[in-house]
Amino acid sequence: MGLLQDKLAKYDLPQQYMAMGVYPYFRTIDSHQDTEVLMDGKKVLMFGSNAYTGLTYDKRIIEAAKAATDKYGTGCAGSRLLNGTLDIHVELEKELAEFVGKDDSLCFSTGFTVNEGVIPQLTGRNDYIICDDRVHASIVDGRRLSFSTQLKYKHNDMADLEKELQKCDPDAIKLIVVDSVFSMEGDLANLPEIVRLKKKYNASIMVDEAHGLGVFGKQGRGVCDHFGVTEDIDLIMGTFSKSLASIGGFVAGDASVINWLRHNARSYIFQASNTPAATAAAREALHIIMNEPERQQRLWDITNYALKKFRDAGFEIGETESPIIPLYVRDAEKTFVVTKMAFDEGIFINPVIPPACAPQDTLVRVALMATHTKDQVDYAVEKLTKCFRALGVIE
Ligand code: PMP
Repeated sequence: MGLLQDKLAKYDLPQQYMAMGVYPYFRTIDSHQDTEVLMDGKKVLMFGSNAYTGLTYDKRIIEAAKAATDKYGTGCAGSRLLNGTLDIHVELEKELAEFVGKDDSLCFSTGFTVNEGVIPQLTGRNDYIICDDRVHASIVDGRRLSFSTQLKYKHNDMADLEKELQKCDPDAIKLIVVDSVFSMEGDLANLPEIVRLKKKYNASIMVDEAHGLGVFGKQGRGVCDHFGVTEDIDLIMGTFSKSLASIGGFVAGDASVINWLRHNARSYIFQASNTPAATAAAREALHIIMNEPERQQRLWDITNYALKKFRDAGFEIGETESPIIPLYVRDAEKTFVVTKMAFDEGIFINPVIPPACAPQDTLVRVALMATHTKDQVDYAVEKLTKCFRALGVIE
């Protein structure tokens, strides 16, 4: 065929893993998603979901989505700027701003497009964006769309962040962008120290709370709240696709910055607004999270139980402090093989290989939900121990 096809064929890793019978992606689920799902007609324990609060099949949220569809229809057929703004979008924006402790917020159709649309609009040619080297792909794409100088610091290495800040023009905007919970490794950003450096170098901070909301802080308000640094964070973004059982995202901050973004963030202005069903679902989930703190407690009980179980069984689980438990394999091929072995034992987990991690850090990612039971965790630890031992990854 042509040059395009020849070049792409050279990098066709999926074909290689398909030939080995361990290709793990795009499996179809034929049921609703909770701790158990049906895949290819088979019951599988779900340890690969981001629905930490376990709300994706909550009857109240389903009813809220249905009622919004009945009232507003299935789509908005326009962007927020023009005909796509509903009263429920605006109400959710107010509630989210209050939830995370900021003046105002904007709701986007996905979390990914929050980062893509917001980050490039905050800095100009003479400014800087400084990121931890493990930030989410959507932050990487957002910073690539900006005209400013892009700097990176080694993961959670505060001395390295300070070195980067020292390189910057003191009069330029220096925007530090970081995940509050790192989505593959489950560790937290050192926000108190980042805030100290922000003040020392007159920088600004944007925090991605995708995996922090519903999990950390009072009533699930996030890691900024957990560390008591909300006031010193300039912008907080979050998604609806995890603890909020829906799809969409938001950014919250000072009224003036939010107003700037309202008229300049391209994925806000030029993208169709979120569906009535998704918006109402996120709103109902937010109310449930705030009113049912016992759900967050259940999540932490099962997380602490699982962390101890995996550690005691001899797994290498790194620095995680969250319901995301990385089981390091440190070999891409074995990572796929162990994912397939686990699936055959009835456990769904996610393989993580570059670019989602460094080449030497391949892992399988286990994620907990408030609805998981101790029996389910026991089963997963037992079967995964067997699989990891068979491959010589643990003793
Ligand atoms: N930020 C982080 C840290 C994420 O993990 C994700 C999604 N996995 C996103 C942003 C994008 O959010 P969404 O998938 O809801 O669009």
